[in-house]
Amino acid sequence: ERRVVIVGAGMAGVQTAVALREQGFTGPVRLIGAEPHQPYDRPPLSKAVLLGTAEGSAFDVDFEALGIELRLGVEVTALRPGAHEVDTEAGPVPYDVLVVATGARPVALPGSEGVRGVHLLRTLDDAERLRPVLADKHDVVVVGAGWIGAEFTTAAREAGCAVTVVEAADRPLAGTLPAEVAAPMAEWYEESGATLLTDARVGHLEPGEVALEDGRLLPAEAVVVGIGARPATGWLAGSGVALGPEGAIVADEHLRTSAPDVYAVGDCASFPSARYGERLMVHHWDNALQGPRTVAAAVIGEVPRPYDPVPYFWSEQFGRFVQYAGHHAAADTMVWRGDPAGAAWSVVWLRRGAPVALLAVGRPRDLAQGRKLIEAGTPLDPERVADPALPLKSA
Ligand code: FAD
Repeated sequence: ERRVVIVGAGMAGVQTAVALREQGFTGPVRLIGAEPHQPYDRPPLSKAVLLGTAEGSAFDVDFEALGIELRLGVEVTALRPGAHEVDTEAGPVPYDVLVVATGARPVALPGSEGVRGVHLLRTLDDAERLRPVLADKHDVVVVGAGWIGAEFTTAAREAGCAVTVVEAADRPLAGTLPAEVAAPMAEWYEESGATLLTDARVGHLEPGEVALEDGRLLPAEAVVVGIGARPATGWLAGSGVALGPEGAIVADEHLRTSAPDVYAVGDCASFPSARYGERLMVHHWDNALQGPRTVAAAVIGEVPRPYDPVPYFWSEQFGRFVQYAGHHAAADTMVWRGDPAGAAWSVVWLRRGAPVALLAVGRPRDLAQGRKLIEAGTPLDPERVADPALPLKSA
């Protein structure tokens, strides 16, 4: 029987192992992960785990009962596709099928290496190092008003920390959302009691202080950096596996890589989307749940349907539930549903009359209905979409 080796024991790696068993694969499955901890879920790290209201977020999976061999605390250092082997510090591991699920690594702030009190937020260890910062109500500077920055700020304000957020762009989430949509979100920071400094850049870091490029000095007992993440694929250099922009593994519509018998799934890979007419790299939880089902089906020898999901993610920030489904471009038509100054509103993006993306703030029903409408490509009447009293599905 073919031996499956999965590199990376995060959401995508674990779900691949589970999906293989669910789909009837009976051969050996070995899951190798660099982190020493029992495999765990990341979204709670910037929420309950940080606040100490949950101890951890280990996946509820009985690996032993499923016959999944876990090798934790082991880093894979290289891939040799010709030999069908990966290298680890403990020696080579042979495979018949390899699944790469090494996720992403946060981008460090230049000049921050080794400076005391500077944190990233990606791993359970990171969250555990940050817990006392919150518990002791330290003064915190957050660098980056993206998803991680917003969620960390929410937790830190809830804990009673003084928080200043430094953002290089003119608004939060500048890489993801247009200015009109992000504008009300900027107010959420102030409303929470945090200070948001836009068009502001960190010059250098000192212990206890952040100096901005314009000379302003911000006291900081801790600095939390959330300026993005890049696929953790450095170990594939020279292997022959094709890497694209930002180092993402270039996968095909069945999540196969350019090397024979090697698949890639989750945050580490990009895939071609016929639905959106471009290659997508998705750094969200749902992609690490759905992608593995395609990989498992391909491994057991079915011809899976092309992997072409409507991407979905959520964020919990400033007491609000923010959800986004789909993928929009600047040229798409934006339709508002409700008042962005209010507690609940949505935005729908239409292309040739059909919805391609939706952002919902406190309107989970819009999200649920919108996701299906996007999937089906159902044309909508913009005037009815704009009426928040009408269910989206009857627009
Ligand atoms: P990862 O979770 O990064 O797992 C990859 C694993 O591979 C890691 O454990 C890593 O140590 C290991 N690894 C890497 N290189 C090697 C190697 N060479 N050898 C062995 N092992 C290796 N998404 C949402 O949709 N909603 C949210 O609210 C949300 N909140 C988040 C909060 C935080 C704090 C973070 C960090 C992410 C959040 N996300 C959220 C994103 C979501 O968690 C990720 O998209 C998801 O974890 C991706 O899963 P993955 O398995 O591809 O990668």
